[in-house]
Amino acid sequence: MPEPTADFTATLRTALAGADTADARALWRALGAGGVLVALCPDGGTQPDPRRLATLLTELDARCPLGVALSICVQVATVLPLLSEPATGPVAGPVAETVADLVRGETTVALAVTDAGASGSDLLDATTRAKLGDDAVTLDGRKEWITNATTCDAALVLARHREPRHFTSFCWLLVPRSAPGVTVEPAGRAFAGSGVGHLRFDGVALEPNALVGRPGRALAGFARQVGVERLAGALWSRAICRRLMTGLGDWLRARPAADGTLWDHPAVRERYARCLVALRQLDALCAPLLDGPPGPPSTATGMVLKVAAAETVETIAAEAVHLRGADAFRDGGEAALRTEAAMFGIAGGATGTMLAGLADHADDLLGSRP
Ligand SMILES: Cc1cc2nc3c(=O)[nH]c(=O)nc-3n(C[C@H](O)[C@H](O)[C@H](O)COP(=O)(O)OP(=O)(O)OC[C@H]3O[C@@H](n4cnc5c(N)ncnc54)[C@H](O)[C@@H]3O)c2cc1C
Repeated sequence: MPEPTADFTATLRTALAGADTADARALWRALGAGGVLVALCPDGGTQPDPRRLATLLTELDARCPLGVALSICVQVATVLPLLSEPATGPVAGPVAETVADLVRGETTVALAVTDAGASGSDLLDATTRAKLGDDAVTLDGRKEWITNATTCDAALVLARHREPRHFTSFCWLLVPRSAPGVTVEPAGRAFAGSGVGHLRFDGVALEPNALVGRPGRALAGFARQVGVERLAGALWSRAICRRLMTGLGDWLRARPAADGTLWDHPAVRERYARCLVALRQLDALCAPLLDGPPGPPSTATGMVLKVAAAETVETIAAEAVHLRGADAFRDGGEAALRTEAAMFGIAGGATGTMLAGLADHADDLLGSRP
């Protein structure tokens, strides 16, 4: 019997009380020590329960900078399930130790998929290479725009171990950040708290037990798990939109205008109402998944969620900026949030790429023909 969400919320709030919400590592430690990371997956499973995931992301959104919430989101939706999912192969040695440390919040692991040698939308051309030997594995290449890169203890790295341009040519490696040959460079000042940066691997020598799961299975496993990341993104963007709409509504009701407040203007109310409709559409897309089983939605559903989340947050953040005028540019205001929230249309799959892929699923999405 899954723990009721109310119990999960109480566990979560206790863990968050007093935690440093501007420091992703400290927050991860607090979530682990408070039992939140274990409670997220019901019945000792490896996939987060959708309702608990929604609660976690909503609470994080209310308290943390976007970059800090991003750091936690990638780990709960993608890193932890990929490392602990039995489907990727037997979990033993350093991988098993890392999983145990992760759920206790004692270690932070980055997900290094996007390659410097190819467009992020085209993983088959990735050039980060692993040479798999009987006694050692050697890793060379570069990964760009990796959340937690500057703050992690290790990275889960997608690497090519065979040359053919085929989804079976890739493996996962768990690479300690302290390994000789690993260098890290921050990506810039955006996304404060996310540790986003670029990782470089120059002749990094690893034990064979750094392999996670069976070589050849990595890309298929990632393609499946990314559905959970897309669901998480939709649930999180929904929380952002709701927070923006609530703040905007309060502000419009308080903002004096000639004949009352801005809220009294029909044109303003119509713009606000259009945002409400967009948010309710995103709510409706998420609703059936909230009560579904833990685990990835179908590929097409994941892509629909990804595009809808990106477009809804963009619509609502843009309107919040325009309606609030100069006030949107105060420190921590909607203008800054809108810039960072553009990542919903990029990270984990760019909107254009999702749309190209979605067209291939037209028959599934339209249902059977009359
Ligand atoms: C804040 C942030 C955090 C990130 N965190 C991580 C992380 O933790 N781990 C990780 O591995 N990566 C991470 N990324 C990288 C992210 O996943 C990639 O940026 C993303 O996959 C898009 O790749 P790209 O930037 O190379 O863009 P490209 O793939 O080069 O795409 C550029 C543009 O071309 C369009 N395009 C490209 N291909 C097609 C196509 N086939 N059809 C139609 N249009 C197309 C896209 O829509 C896009 O607009 C992060 C990125 C950001 C911004």
